[in-house]
Amino acid sequence: MFPFLIKIKNLILDILFPPICLHCRKTLTANQYLCETCHNSIQLNTSLFCPVCRLRLAENKKICGHTNYLLGAAGNYHDPVLRDLIHYFKYESFENLSPILGEIIINYLKLLNFKLLNFIIIPIPLHRVKERQRGFNQSKLLAKNIAGHFNLELIDALKRIRKTKPQAQFKKAEKRAENIKNCFAIKESAIKSIKNKNILLIDDVFTTGTTINEAVRVLKQNSAKRIIALVAAKA
Ligand SMILES: [Zn+2]
Ligand SMILES: [Zn+2]
Repeated sequence: MFPFLIKIKNLILDILFPPICLHCRKTLTANQYLCETCHNSIQLNTSLFCPVCRLRLAENKKICGHTNYLLGAAGNYHDPVLRDLIHYFKYESFENLSPILGEIIINYLKLLNFKLLNFIIIPIPLHRVKERQRGFNQSKLLAKNIAGHFNLELIDALKRIRKTKPQAQFKKAEKRAENIKNCFAIKESAIKSIKNKNILLIDDVFTTGTTINEAVRVLKQNSAKRIIALVAAKA
């Protein structure tokens, strides 16, 4: 289509469906997704966490001994604006929200102020059937934003080797672990590139941690060094 026709089409769409804030539904003047008040209300965390006991941890401190990786969560899932952003991004396929959520994670990483030395970025993969349904892998889009900003290498090292059931249907931790067990493998082509590397493992949210635990297990098996699971929000 000619550019001016696209402009006219967008103008008509804006008149029929004026952009509104995803959270408070206020009409927006510019083509954004959140009003300034809602955007500014998102509270960023200022530390890393233990993925098990959720103890706040400084990057250089010894971890509490619960597990072999750290959790970096930009915000919290009970934050109503952040929760709406993630919901629309993930379940309503609002692909355009990835730069906003990416920026939230980037700002959080800047607050932590630690050196991303020898770090590479790896997204949690979706099963290809799921990715086709959604149209994109939300973790990979976030990973691209973060990698681009900090000039880090993004390596799509993990693959799903079997389909799992939605984790929400399992209440017991053992059942969730059983469902996810052995669902990941390292791609043959990536085995060399993760050896002795520090890894930012990207997902959208951290709830029970079962999926991340399994990904960490496979990465550690393949000689990954330090791992920080990095998400937009923790539950
Ligand atoms: Zn708003
Ligand atoms: Zn702990």
